[in-house]
Amino acid sequence: FGRPWIFIRGVPSMDFLPPEGPLEVAFAGRSNVGKSSLINALVAKKGLARTSNTPGRTQELNYFVPDGYSGQEGDMPPMAIVDMPGYGYAQAPKELVDNWTKLVFDYLRGRSTLKRVYVLIDSRHGIKKNDDEVLDLLDKAAVSYQVVLTKTDKIKEAGVRRLLEETTEKIRKRPAAFPEVLATSSEKAGGIDDLRRAIGVAVGK
Ligand code: GDP
Repeated sequence: FGRPWIFIRGVPSMDFLPPEGPLEVAFAGRSNVGKSSLINALVAKKGLARTSNTPGRTQELNYFVPDGYSGQEGDMPPMAIVDMPGYGYAQAPKELVDNWTKLVFDYLRGRSTLKRVYVLIDSRHGIKKNDDEVLDLLDKAAVSYQVVLTKTDKIKEAGVRRLLEETTEKIRKRPAAFPEVLATSSEKAGGIDDLRRAIGVAVGK
């Protein structure tokens, strides 16, 4: 994560996906879960992933890579981060939800360089129905994923411990879930290094 990261492309449908190159990890979560903040904390760059409060505005996979690589063979970035569109808006029209599901499912099924999806869960809410549906989708697509709690600074330490146990138990029987659940706070920089390490292992660096 040493180099500055840059945004390379927004992908509204599969036709716009960059050719498969570097290994990828993707981030998914309900709108407002703290996904942009976590990606920014991860790459230590404010404003890289837009912290947006306009639900449903963009339904794109946003691609980020470390800067300074040509992308040509032999000069490939070591990995890419894919910011998946948020889900779970209260007023989302069915068409938007269907679009989301199609884009995400096509991507999950078709991308051999995708090594892991990080599914973010707000510490104050735990796994909700629409999170469960996304976990179902990931299990169905057989894409390895890991659950990451966000905003742990908003609840007490004992609460975080309890939620970690509960969440670990909830995903125990899910076939594509990585068993360890991570706890993070972008605000307090908690757990960010653990997440960096987990990503490093997932992409084999
Ligand atoms: P996104 O919609 O998932 O990209 O969520 P954002 O990153 O835009 O964050 C949504 C809101 O939660 C913003 O007001 C952030 O400031 C806040 N937020 C994000 N991460 C944290 C965190 O770790 N701790 C606290 N206290 N607030 C956070």
